[in-house]
Amino acid sequence: MTTLPEDTYWHKGMRRKLVDSIRRRGISDERILSAMEAMPRHFFLEKAFEEKAYEDTAFPIGCDQTISQPYTVAYQTALLEIQKREKVLEIGTGSGYQAAILALLGARVFTIERQEILYLRTRELLSRLGLRNVRCYFRDGSKGLPEFAPFDKILVTAAADAVPQSLLDQLAIGGMLVIPVGTEIQRMERITRVGESEYKTEQFDHFRFVPFLKGIEKK
Ligand code: SAH
Repeated sequence: MTTLPEDTYWHKGMRRKLVDSIRRRGISDERILSAMEAMPRHFFLEKAFEEKAYEDTAFPIGCDQTISQPYTVAYQTALLEIQKREKVLEIGTGSGYQAAILALLGARVFTIERQEILYLRTRELLSRLGLRNVRCYFRDGSKGLPEFAPFDKILVTAAADAVPQSLLDQLAIGGMLVIPVGTEIQRMERITRVGESEYKTEQFDHFRFVPFLKGIEKK
């Protein structure tokens, strides 16, 4: 990868407008909104999409995958109620944008991607951005990251038809898993581990994510 693109006044202005629109849609956590205002989303997109980076839309990032819509990133992040220093596992690194937002909130981020091309590209981008509190893994995320469990928070950014048991097992007591569940269209669920084998499920709005797939894909 070459050097990072510039972050001009134009980009910053567009970013402020995007964040205002997300605030108007009901996201009220100012820490999340500030992180999104601080992090240039166009760094995570190909040059061809640079001018569109501050539209509230998902865009292709290669390998048939997409960067999530900014509103969705804000929504999932808000449900996670991230506190500084928390250990957070993300399934579906993709462009790295969501991981970067979690990192700016002070989380210790572990992120897993099953597409080797995306894993390699995003790992390099995140280190170029100086985000030292993000670690990238090339794995099948349905198995989680047992050697680093338990996690305070787990975030799935692809559509799961069922909640993987291994992710539930890797939650700390009091920890929360945010996951879009469903096939065609998904309902956002937040599952809190309230005891050793006791979980509480809350349901939120509907979204549309790319599918959660099994296995890994080498380049
Ligand atoms: N969080 C990303 C969203 C990317 S889209 C971002 O901010 O850009 C979802 C990603 O999940 C895709 O990159 C896809 O390859 C990945 N994915 C799907 N199933 C997976 C699995 N089982 N393990 C790890 N990653 C997976």
